[in-house]
Amino acid sequence: MITIGVPAEGPDEARIGLSPDTAKKLGKYGAKIQVVSGAGLRSRISDQDYTDAGVTIVKTDQDAVKGADIVLTVRRPSLELAKSMKQGALVIGMLDPFSDAAGLDALAKSGVDLFSMELMPRITRAQVMDVLSSQSNLAGYKAVIDAAAAFGRALPMMMTAAGTVPAAKVFVMGAGVAGLQAIATAKRLGAIVTATDVRPAAKEQVESLAAKFVAVEDEEFKEAETAGGYAKEMSDAYKKKQAELVAKHVANQDVVITTALIPGRPAPILLTKTMIESMKPGSIIVDLAVERGGNAELSKPGEVIEHNGVTLMGKLNMPGLLPVNASALYAKNLFAFVESMIDKESNALALNWDDELVKGTGIAKAGEIVNERVAEALKSSPAKPEAAKPTQTSETTTPKTPKGDTT
Ligand code: NAD
Repeated sequence: MITIGVPAEGPDEARIGLSPDTAKKLGKYGAKIQVVSGAGLRSRISDQDYTDAGVTIVKTDQDAVKGADIVLTVRRPSLELAKSMKQGALVIGMLDPFSDAAGLDALAKSGVDLFSMELMPRITRAQVMDVLSSQSNLAGYKAVIDAAAAFGRALPMMMTAAGTVPAAKVFVMGAGVAGLQAIATAKRLGAIVTATDVRPAAKEQVESLAAKFVAVEDEEFKEAETAGGYAKEMSDAYKKKQAELVAKHVANQDVVITTALIPGRPAPILLTKTMIESMKPGSIIVDLAVERGGNAELSKPGEVIEHNGVTLMGKLNMPGLLPVNASALYAKNLFAFVESMIDKESNALALNWDDELVKGTGIAKAGEIVNERVAEALKSSPAKPEAAKPTQTSETTTPKTPKGDTT
């Protein structure tokens, strides 16, 4: 029988990695599940909801992880909590793998195996486990809703006896999962929507949502997508041309939503101070990349600021602001991954390190860091005693990269 533990998250994290639905599904494999009392409350899941789904409610985080073969988390657990886990327990969560390598190493040395869901390979079989998609989609929606709420005008055109209200212009920068949802949401609210991206495949997707695509479409643009479907770092010459095009466009926009990311790199700066200053007072910028350094030069992590009448929103953990949906989807992602590790005959845990999903997400195994990039980062900043501090706090959402460092 597999034992699964779910501790509570820190004060800045409203999501949880188990839903009553996924608890029931795990129960069908005979899993014993222990959740700390109150862990689901911020996602509107009561202890009773869990109990009805066959979960045992326990008093402390230590009780929740005690004896567990698998510990499901949203953020990195603290080292202190990891020390209460059994040797070889699998900790599965969004472990923020490329920040604080020393902290990860300390967790690994405590004897737990670590799996970071952000590293799930983007292959068809793993789509149901893709936390970046399930969470970014909600972030894209929330960005538009927040912008609309802060905007002193309406988004749709309205023709009334007293006059016509013009439609607002919304520009979405980065048309991945979050950006496409932002486009769809802004369209539904009646805005005039344009979008940009460096990947040529994004053009068709933007146009399929009836938005206009704005980008420098040169030879480099045609090659700008990696085999994994992600953006490449663009050359300085391309960035310059694109910035000139964007600068003209931005000056005319009411709302700009930025979502541009490059895996493992700082977010590219797409909105310079000059561009922001070219926007009309009352305009809104929502920087969804703020946790990775930000796409807007002036945005500040965790803050909503005003510059020359332009509001810059740099809220952290946007999916966590829709915890009910975010938890339900995230729990489903985790369930699918855990289910792939269960032997369907014996209902026992059958972890296969040769499976590409396990290999892709696995960061630490038997006390050692096994992810190459984390190991590299560790070499350049080896563990210090103070690095072993708990990380299940707001620290995990502070920016890890200086602005403008796109090298
Ligand atoms: P992401 O979060 O890494 O980046 C967001 C977007 O920013 C991307 O579209 C990227 O091209 C864009 N971007 C990067 N630099 C830019 C710049 N300088 N200017 C403008 N835009 C820039 O991306 P994502 O949302 O995770 O999606 C990346 C791709 O992966 C998409 O094609 C998506 O459809 C695909 N995807 C595949 C799967 C799967 O197969 N399982 C799942 C989800 C997403």
